[in-house]
Amino acid sequence: MTAIPAIAIVGASGRMGQMLIRMIDESDRVTLAGATERRGHEWIGKDLGLCMGGTKNGYIVQDDPLEVFAKAQAVIDFTSPEATIAHAELAAQARAVHVIGTTGLTDMHLEKLTAAARHAVIIRAGNMSLGVNLLTKLTQKVAAALDADFDIEIVEAHHRHKVDAPSGTALMLGEAAAEGRHVHLKDVSDRGRDGITGARKRGGIGFSAIRGGDIVGEHDVIFAADGERIILRHIATDRRIFARGALKAAIWGQGRSPGEYDMMDVLGL
Ligand code: NAD
Repeated sequence: MTAIPAIAIVGASGRMGQMLIRMIDESDRVTLAGATERRGHEWIGKDLGLCMGGTKNGYIVQDDPLEVFAKAQAVIDFTSPEATIAHAELAAQARAVHVIGTTGLTDMHLEKLTAAARHAVIIRAGNMSLGVNLLTKLTQKVAAALDADFDIEIVEAHHRHKVDAPSGTALMLGEAAAEGRHVHLKDVSDRGRDGITGARKRGGIGFSAIRGGDIVGEHDVIFAADGERIILRHIATDRRIFARGALKAAIWGQGRSPGEYDMMDVLGL
């Protein structure tokens, strides 16, 4: 275990990638091992500092992840599901902790991560912020305390560029509500309502997504019964909260036994 872990950032030009690189630059607890982008991206082969609109920093953006991972103790990954799966194998080979924020992973992707975690530390969360992880715990507790007279609805809002719905966070909240009720989310999940859908099913957990502008991320968990309603809400106004959580996870993961972890483990919730 190194005292100051060196971190590889994949997807360096992305919204989260750039935020992470800036935060690593300001931190005295981690250093930057290097940065990658997808093959063919305009940043490849160029100086990272210049690409980010600042001064030269000597890091050349790479398209070969293994070369960068070999110098890293952790990889922080907010890219796409396919890229994340490829990175998991390479991070395991390089013995680097793999912190995954990417959302939209299917069961097939998750199986591949489970296989990689036999030899590697993987920390994955649909939302890396302290506030949302607390909200998740609260959702589970409230769902456990109330019976199915309370309809559970999860409403999320994100910026216009987001490509997947419902958000990873909404699904995480849905899982927590289902867990509180001792049911499986896949059996009760109610998604994509449109047209004559019929009346709401008792015990269902509904999802709705709003997309627009530059909304960073908002989540409401609504427990609606006859005559009263409880709403648990989290509003993210700055992406730093996700980057801060990911860096915390990268440090926390150092020296851990191989396996799959999440932010609840990192935050000790
Ligand atoms: P973005 O589109 O701005 O950035 C993704 C970057 O990954 C792009 O620059 C893309 O070129 C790059 N990329 C794609 N394939 C690659 C590859 N093979 N190698 C290297 N780079 C590759 O998206 P974003 O807003 O930064 O979000 C990225 C992901 O993180 C999404 O799935 C989003 O939902 C998720 N996210 C999660 C959290 C969380 O807390 N878990 C928070 C914010 C975003």
